[in-house]
Amino acid sequence: MRLLVVEDDDIVADAITRGLVAAHYAVHRVNSAEAAQSALAAEEFALAVIDVGLPGADGLTLVRRLRSAGKTLPTLMLTARCTLNDKVKALDLGADDFLSKPFEPAELVARCRALMRRASGALDGVIKLNRLRVDLVGRRLSIDDAEVELTAREWLLLECLVRRTGQIVPKERVQQAIANPEQDITPNAVEVHVSRLRAKLGDAAVIRSLRGLGYRLEEAKAP
Ligand code: CA
Repeated sequence: MRLLVVEDDDIVADAITRGLVAAHYAVHRVNSAEAAQSALAAEEFALAVIDVGLPGADGLTLVRRLRSAGKTLPTLMLTARCTLNDKVKALDLGADDFLSKPFEPAELVARCRALMRRASGALDGVIKLNRLRVDLVGRRLSIDDAEVELTAREWLLLECLVRRTGQIVPKERVQQAIANPEQDITPNAVEVHVSRLRAKLGDAAVIRSLRGLGYRLEEAKAP
């Protein structure tokens, strides 16, 4: 799942996006509460980073609307002025954490990770499959204890398949999971990403292509 960044200041939004992408998260950026609401209606996000100071409806209004619409995703609020009063108000409205501007991107990434871990609960966001260890929140894949680097798209693909290990995932669902609203993805491109991920997994896990049906991730037998 991708992370939603709601920030109208391009420089700050660029810095946030760079930090999150470097930590292997896929990001969708919007610059208003209204655009955030449309994005959240169209797609499920793992977390939202929300600037309080937005043109139109502000970040606090956005959080209140999300919570009253039943959205439970973790939210990290970015605040310029941060009085205790603002924080209490935001928490009452349903925000999960705060970060005051200016901040270090590394701090933001750490906070996001902590919020997602908390939200993923007892499972800790880690899936173990024989030789594979997939930390969905920390965005770390290890095979036999050696870390493997994945691109943001490969992560979305792995996440989609690993959550349904042993089950057939329809090709359209895979395509949807790795697409961006900004950039459509063709069935051929899905095939390309699957091949790349398959190469990175080596013989530690198998991604089967089932003609006309979709894909299935299978764990490899112990060596
Ligand atoms: Ca702002």
